Amino acid sequence: MHDHRRLGRELGLFDTDPLMGAGLPYWLPDGALVRHTLEEYVREAERAAGYRHVYSPVLGKRELYEISGHWDHYRDDMFPPMELGAEQVLLRPSLCPHHALVFRSRSRSHRELPLRLAELGGMYRSEPSGALGGLTRVRAIHLNDAHVFCTPDQAVEEARAALGLISRAYADLGIRAARHRLSLPGGGGKYVADPALWERATALLREALDSAGLEYETAEGEAAFYGPKIDVQIADPAGRESTLSTVQIDFHQPACFGLRYSGPDGARHRPVMVHRSVIGSVERAVAHLLEVHGGAFPVWLAPVQLVVLPVGEAQEERAHEVVRRAGELGLRAEVAGPGRGSLGARIRRARLVPYQAVLGEREAADGSAAVRLRDGRRPGTLPAAELLRRIAERVAGRGTGLWDAA
Ligand SMILES: [Zn+2]
Repeated sequence: MHDHRRLGRELGLFDTDPLMGAGLPYWLPDGALVRHTLEEYVREAERAAGYRHVYSPVLGKRELYEISGHWDHYRDDMFPPMELGAEQVLLRPSLCPHHALVFRSRSRSHRELPLRLAELGGMYRSEPSGALGGLTRVRAIHLNDAHVFCTPDQAVEEARAALGLISRAYADLGIRAARHRLSLPGGGGKYVADPALWERATALLREALDSAGLEYETAEGEAAFYGPKIDVQIADPAGRESTLSTVQIDFHQPACFGLRYSGPDGARHRPVMVHRSVIGSVERAVAHLLEVHGGAFPVWLAPVQLVVLPVGEAQEERAHEVVRRAGELGLRAEVAGPGRGSLGARIRRARLVPYQAVLGEREAADGSAAVRLRDGRRPGTLPAAELLRRIAERVAGRGTGLWDAA
């Protein structure tokens, strides 16, 4: 069974230090590479789907969260306020209030809707220290978040489109949803009271799930304090479930912030907010990828995509030449030369790297490479340029395959 903490340390992806604090992991160069690649993938998918990206600060005044309702309903999960002169500021528990203010910063027309604002931003949760571990329970979270401001008529289509983005991303990442859950409020005072709006939002989410053709279960007591949500549940190799991606339809926060747009009738109307996250937090996404793939990331995400193995010192120069050409194609490649041990030992050490190219005397002389795949297949010897072209094609296409039989 794969434990992402052990793999993270073994592969040099991330770590923690008691001096930085529990639940505050840092990312090492190879981990940062995976994270950058994942973040850029999501941003690209979002741009293609009509989202615009913004940046907003991780701090906000206490009044901001009083207005949003977080202060009343979510305070136990927030870090205590910091005194700053006469003001109190807080580490934000979510990005929604900031994005509501970005929407409110200009007068908005119905012609701008749906306005899709995305941000991969930091947020903070004061998890109890006993619950912290690795990347799955952290106090600093970097969420792939977005808020779609739209008319009530557009909300179902926006939620359905978000579900489509999620399933495409899961296919590219080689992960799968364990199930879809429609999370509803439970008893207790955790939730804002407005039964009519809860019912309306729930009906729209059901419509989105149905139009996406997705089966789902309902769960009481799992909603956000301000509204119901669709949770895309993932399961670790031990079968433990957690939520990775979410889609919500929210009538509450647009009202809290007094959001308006001018309609075709010239009157002012209240927009709906669709909150959605495609890959959830980068922390949980990378933890899950590690556990599902046992550290063997899909080619496009792998920190090193190709290891070139010269059999002897005489082939080292040629090996560096292949790595240089791989770099020109945007591939991440490195040489593991004879100084690092026997060929067998070097091959074993590179067992998670998708492609290995062995260069013996013959290959170095004729510009070819003997190709090995990490799944044990050996497609044979082919021109090095042809190998690099095939890897670059595979990276550009995303997805999880290694090689197509010619
Ligand atoms: Zn939100």
